[in-house]
Amino acid sequence: MFWQQEMETLARPALESLQLERLRDTVRRLDRVPFYRAKFLESGVTPEAIKSAADIRRLPFTTAADLRENYPDKLLAVSREEVLRLHTTSGSTGKPKALFFSRRDVDTAADLIARALCMTGVTRRDVFQNMMSYGLFTGGLVMHYGAEKVGCMVIPAGPGTSERQLLLMQDFRTTVIHILPSYALYFADFLEKKGVDPRKSLALRKAFVGAEAHTEETRRNIEAALGLEVYNSYGLTEMNGPGVAFECEGKCGMHLWEDNYVLEIINPKTCEPAGDGETGELVLTSINREAMPLLRYRTRDLTALISEPCPCGRTHRRIHRITGRSDDMLIVRGVNIFPQQIERVLMAMPQIGRNYLILLEGLDEMTVKVELSPAAFDGEVGHIADLQNEVAEKLRAELWLRPKVDLVASGSLPVAEGKAKRVIDRRSL
Ligand code: AMP
Ligand code: ZN
Repeated sequence: MFWQQEMETLARPALESLQLERLRDTVRRLDRVPFYRAKFLESGVTPEAIKSAADIRRLPFTTAADLRENYPDKLLAVSREEVLRLHTTSGSTGKPKALFFSRRDVDTAADLIARALCMTGVTRRDVFQNMMSYGLFTGGLVMHYGAEKVGCMVIPAGPGTSERQLLLMQDFRTTVIHILPSYALYFADFLEKKGVDPRKSLALRKAFVGAEAHTEETRRNIEAALGLEVYNSYGLTEMNGPGVAFECEGKCGMHLWEDNYVLEIINPKTCEPAGDGETGELVLTSINREAMPLLRYRTRDLTALISEPCPCGRTHRRIHRITGRSDDMLIVRGVNIFPQQIERVLMAMPQIGRNYLILLEGLDEMTVKVELSPAAFDGEVGHIADLQNEVAEKLRAELWLRPKVDLVASGSLPVAEGKAKRVIDRRSL
């Protein structure tokens, strides 16, 4: 099912010329923003100089630091009266990054979500429970508007308590949820402890999971525990929030809406384009925004491009699941480690529960604290030691470093209100 079939299946040459036209328009619009104007003058770039897709490389990068330095509104490209809404990033340190929306931006963002929901078979008959936090975070309102556009009955539940979520799901026969992967894992544990079998007593059929890096193993874990299909949903506040890239029913990479964003994947060190299929940093240019378009935004998210056509017929290219952020990488005793590697190992072990924490302490000591599965463990002390060993061995094989493993009771590790905090670094290096 399509929401905007013509645009979603536009032939590549037409899509590419539309991109070029919109890119030029965006450069024109940004000529009014002093930050960009100064950069254009410095490099001598004009909208007319953008003649082909490759010319995007003549444009400057924009970084998170640029957004912070221009906080609150120095990157605004329209007058204040044209702004309809403000969102900020969920980052917890320092000043947030602010993003403005015009009326058209709010509407376009909702259309991109509607495309995503339709491509996985969501219809107006669905009951959509949005379990992401409302407020400044885009996961609430932006998704909400998109689901309303499709015509779903939307329940703006917010993250709330699990008891209340369950009540809403039961009483209103929720069929689709939008949820953080870490919360989905927690919620699965909650149902298990309560003895609620979602396949029998709930009507859930689909979950849109995003806003946090998560592995394929986590997806499978959530699907098995909640008895539904899980689709990966990628976005970031700077580019509207959710709706930038989504999986179709094939679950084989996320279609990135190229009529709205120009995507590049670069080597984060050299800033040169990554080779075909090679992992690098995703760089995005918003070419269909009015209030605050950004040029070549360094997302820090690591992924690779899938150029092969998708069986679903959409021509917008796909990106792989985000494997982490370039600034997520931990260096422990000289070894480069991404938290995702640890998650992959843990989530593939049925005896292991669904919450974990990576602790870095002392000189360079890594401890992985893991919850035991509430159902799959008999509690015998000898078995705990064996399992601890088994987890440490599996981690060693993946990381080339053997961390200390601490198995703890189910439900004993902290649960965040918003995005999960999986790493605590208290090293005294
Ligand atoms: P925020 O702007 O606060 O919503 O955060 C956006 C960031 O969340 C992105 O830059 C990614 O690092 C992360 N993120 C969002 N969606 C996903 C996803 N599906 N997979 C992995 N990371 C994600
Ligand atoms: Zn597809």
